[in-house]
Amino acid sequence: MKKSIVSLLVLLLATCGVAFAQEPDSLRVWEMNEDHDDADTTMMLVRAIDTLSTPDKYIKIVLFNDHTWDYIEMERPDIDTTGLFEDWDIESIHAYRDVKISDLPEEVDLLLVDSGHHFVAPIIGRRSSTFKFRKGRPHNGIDIPLRVGDTIRSPFDGVVRYVGGGKATGGYGNLIVVRHPNGLETYYGHLSERLVVENDLVAAGEPIGLGGSTGRSTGPHLHFETRYMGKPFDPERVINFDDGTLRDTMLTIKRHYFNVGSHYGMTDKQSKAVTDAVYHKVKKGDTLGAIARKYGTTVNAICKLNGISSKKVLQIGQRLRVR
Ligand SMILES: [Zn+2]
Repeated sequence: MKKSIVSLLVLLLATCGVAFAQEPDSLRVWEMNEDHDDADTTMMLVRAIDTLSTPDKYIKIVLFNDHTWDYIEMERPDIDTTGLFEDWDIESIHAYRDVKISDLPEEVDLLLVDSGHHFVAPIIGRRSSTFKFRKGRPHNGIDIPLRVGDTIRSPFDGVVRYVGGGKATGGYGNLIVVRHPNGLETYYGHLSERLVVENDLVAAGEPIGLGGSTGRSTGPHLHFETRYMGKPFDPERVINFDDGTLRDTMLTIKRHYFNVGSHYGMTDKQSKAVTDAVYHKVKKGDTLGAIARKYGTTVNAICKLNGISSKKVLQIGQRLRVR
C-alpha cells in the first residue's frame, strides 16, 4: 500500500515536474489518504491529471481526477538581482551602448559559481567557427553545430533581457540574451524556438531555446556570445565546449580581451599586441569611409594611423591599419 502511495506521489511530482517550495494542499490530501490501510483507499486517492500554466511560470495549476484543482508554486531560482537591472533594455539586442571599451576597468573579477549557484554547459560540441575577424567582419562569438531542436540551456542563473527574431535581429535569427547576476551577458543566436520571454528568471541548466538555423546561417548551429558591459570577448575564456566544463570558478576579464583578435590561450602580451593593431586588406570598391564604418572607427583615425591623407587613392591589396 505504502509503495503505491509513494509511487503515485512520485507520479504527482513527475506530472508537475516541480520541486515544491512549500507544502501545498495537494500534498496534504495524499498524507490524509496514507492513514487508510485497506484496499478501498486506492479508489479514494486523488490523482493529478494535468497541469496548466499561469502568467507566472513558477506557479502552475494542477487538476485532479476528482474535479478539484490547486495552485502549486515551483521553487524560484535564488538570484541576486542587486545591480542586475542597470541599463536594462528589453527592446535592443545590445545594452550599455554608451559605454566605451576605454571606460571599462583594466581588469574585473567575476565570480561565476558558488555553493548555491552552479553551471551547466549551454551545449557541448566542437567549434565550427571561433571568435575572430571573418571575411573582414568581426565574428563576435563562437559557432557550435547542432541538430535542429537540440536543447540550449542557460549556463548560469540569470534574467532574460532580450528575445527577438526576424528583421529585428538581422543575422542573429531568433535570439535570446540572458543577463547573469555578475553582469555577464550570454547570447544565443539562430534558434528554431525561443522557450523564454523577456524578464523571465532562469536557473542554471534551464532550457531557454532550441537550436536552429534562422538568420544568417549556412546550417544548424548555435552562435554563442559572451559580453560584459555590452562588449564581446572570446566565450572560450569562460567555457570549455569540448567537455562542457567551466575554465574556472572565477573569470578575470581584462580590457584587452575586448577585441576579436584576442583569444583564449594567448598570453597577455600576445593579446595586447593584437589589440594594438588591426589591419584591413583593401578590396575592389573599398573606400576609406566604408572601411571606417566597418571597423567602427573614423576616416581621420585611419589616416592618422597610416600617415595618409583622406584624399589618398587606395590600392587593391594594400593593407591599412584600422586600429
Ligand atoms: Zn556565429
